[in-house]
Amino acid sequence: MSTHVICPHCDAVNRVPSDRLDDAPDCGKCHRALFTGHPVPLSAAAFDRHLERSDVPLLVDFWAPWCGPCRMMAPAFEQAAAQLEPYVRLAKVNTEEAQALAARYAIRSIPTLALFHRGREIGRQAGAMGAEDIVRWTRAQLR
Ligand SMILES: [Zn+2]
Repeated sequence: MSTHVICPHCDAVNRVPSDRLDDAPDCGKCHRALFTGHPVPLSAAAFDRHLERSDVPLLVDFWAPWCGPCRMMAPAFEQAAAQLEPYVRLAKVNTEEAQALAARYAIRSIPTLALFHRGREIGRQAGAMGAEDIVRWTRAQLR
């Protein structure tokens, strides 16, 4: 069994043996770590690749720089990344820059967390959350 993992640095699709996901795998193309313990800022172009080609569930923080609650939640989202990787990929989409994406998913308030797996949205939660709540909520969606 192998798992498709998208490199957060060069967006290459990597095939990682599923039982090696925990062993800090590197990208076959750019040789950097496939998991860094930090959320990945995604452009609209990179988003679709992570959405459609990855076997790792994708947890997206839809945010904007002017949004106070978004800035408050950012450290919690960082902590959640350290806890949920490599079994969940955490990403951030700046809705000011990626307005078409925000419209595609009808993001009405920010921050909004949305969880995707193999192209499909499987959960959504609006409003700021603490790190423990983000981790608990994400695991509950994947159960
Ligand atoms: Zn790479």
